[in-house]
Amino acid sequence: MIAIEGVVKRFGANTVLDGVDLRIAPGEVVSILGASGSGKSTLIRCINGLEPLDGGAIAVDGNRVDDAKQLQRARRCCGTVFQLFNLYPHMTALQNITLAPIEVLKTPRRQAEEEARQLLASVGLLDRADAWPAQLSGGQRQRVGICRALAMKPRYLLLDEVTSALDPEMTAEVLNILAKLAASGTTMLFVTHEIAFARQISNRIVFLDQGRLLADLPTAQFFAAEGGFAQPRIAQFLSKMS
Ligand code: ATP
Ligand code: MG
Repeated sequence: MIAIEGVVKRFGANTVLDGVDLRIAPGEVVSILGASGSGKSTLIRCINGLEPLDGGAIAVDGNRVDDAKQLQRARRCCGTVFQLFNLYPHMTALQNITLAPIEVLKTPRRQAEEEARQLLASVGLLDRADAWPAQLSGGQRQRVGICRALAMKPRYLLLDEVTSALDPEMTAEVLNILAKLAASGTTMLFVTHEIAFARQISNRIVFLDQGRLLADLPTAQFFAAEGGFAQPRIAQFLSKMS
């Protein structure tokens, strides 16, 4: 369980998260929607302990992210993929994926490479194992990034606009992989502007507006006239995006 309770985050005078309560249970796929600047990325960074909190608490499987020791355990539970391709440029696709399992989990190299090849095969990139990031397309890099996160066998996969820098064709490649992961029971917290896709794969939709959680509803209810649409702010957002 990722338990987010009353989280407040400020940057100077700017309150970016304003009392956010959210729980993500194992097996759930939860999408976070909201306008640019509403605090989505900040929330993901807070879950990773990359931003100190100004109020409230976050715990991942009971490990609080504001405690240095517990944060290490919390981070082990979470695999995160960001918008920009953050592969190590001086390592091949395979090396990017095996680095953390070898260094952190102490997985024997041969086994780590075997597992990495299986992951690459699952995203259709086995033949690109020895390619450098610069030799991969954006969509291919993002798929390698997803493999790198999955190689640590995280309980939770956090995805922050992993397709927003991609063209439609590459976006489809990556969404295809995420749909498969969702269908196979991977717990996901998915920040996206791909509303139709969020609707297709999510159990729940969360809507952030200026750091406040305006809705946290089962997907069907969020898109129902008497659900999310009943809130003018959400109706306005959805009408602009579709
Ligand atoms: P987008 O959809 O554009 O990615 P977002 O919902 O992810 O937006 P955040 O990146 O979380 O939004 O930013 C929320 C607010 O916090 C914005 O007003 C942003 O300017 C501000 N902010 C984010 N990071 C910092 C920082 N390191 N220092 C100061 N302000 C910041
Ligand atoms: Mg963002």
